[in-house]
Amino acid sequence: MVCSCWVPGCTNRANGTDKVGFYSIPSVRVHEGDFTKSLSEERRRLWLASVNRKDEPTKFSKICSSHFITGHPSSMYERSNPDWAPTLKLGEMLTPTKSQKKQAEIETKQKRFQRVMKRQETKEKHHAARWAFYFDKTHTAAVTLYNSIRSGTNM
Ligand SMILES: [Zn+2]
Repeated sequence: MVCSCWVPGCTNRANGTDKVGFYSIPSVRVHEGDFTKSLSEERRRLWLASVNRKDEPTKFSKICSSHFITGHPSSMYERSNPDWAPTLKLGEMLTPTKSQKKQAEIETKQKRFQRVMKRQETKEKHHAARWAFYFDKTHTAAVTLYNSIRSGTNM
């Protein structure tokens, strides 16, 4: 079956030679608990709002990789990932000024994402360092106590 992109104005087709991926519009996942249900509902809503078409997608409607910063959508549980929904080359970017503005917006988003990741990493490092410090302190205290008992000295 020939697959074409559902984004208005996008001419990408799956022809087997280009490395263009196609991704289905996320469906609402109703059987995996409330959290997954509301998250998938929100995601579907955002995808549809981003594509901004008047008609509803069918199960064959797909969006191509050129609308994602990394070339593919993120996992549904990565809500803060800029690729949680399509952001690039959408219908509203027809004029160059708008396109530039949007590009700047995307770069800001990307930077913010990288910053969040970095902060998370630093936080984890600090946490590990703190634990190592406490472990060391407790360990040293235990060794001192053990040695003092063994040598018969009174504390
Ligand atoms: Zn496309």
